[in-house]
Amino acid sequence: MSFTLAIVGRPNVGKSTLFNRLVGKKLALVDDQPGVTRDLREGEARLGDLRFTVVDSAGLEDATDNSLEGRMRRLTERAVEMADVCLFMIDARVGVTPTDEIFADILRKKNSHVILAANKSESNAADAGVLEAWNLGLGEPIRLSGEHGEGLNDLYSQLLPISEKF
Ligand code: GDP
Ligand code: MG
Repeated sequence: MSFTLAIVGRPNVGKSTLFNRLVGKKLALVDDQPGVTRDLREGEARLGDLRFTVVDSAGLEDATDNSLEGRMRRLTERAVEMADVCLFMIDARVGVTPTDEIFADILRKKNSHVILAANKSESNAADAGVLEAWNLGLGEPIRLSGEHGEGLNDLYSQLLPISEKF
């Protein structure tokens, strides 16, 4: 049996970078390639002995401030509907932003598995942000660096018991 993991979070936190690492190919859009964004992108991921479908959510990048919240809600709802597990990512160097709080509210209300990742944590510039992430009420944040491949063992540890339900 397999499961679907959706990576959600505000623009620029590092979703596509992690997607690319899990899929092992450059399928997702990383932010310096303008104009080709699709809202949701799927790939076959491997992490240790786990095999699953991963969904990268984009489509918020060109939203204006006025429309961002509505688009976030719709996109997140769609991602949550198609996924068995959501990986909610923040940028730990920036800390928790009001936009992150909106995502957290949406995800807390959903009855699905949520994994919290405090990304860009390869240096101690992320320490305060990782601590702040606890306040989101989504459990223990994974200290992750998608770009440097750090924290993937902790991601595996959180995914393993969930994967056994599917
Ligand atoms: P997305 O908009 O959430 O999909 O974010 P991207 O994956 O496009 O990444 C946005 C920027 O953050 C890019 O410049 C990435 O190289 C950078 N980035 C992604 N992951 C990390 C990380 O773990 N550490 C650091 N320092 N930068 C990262
Ligand atoms: Mg992206």
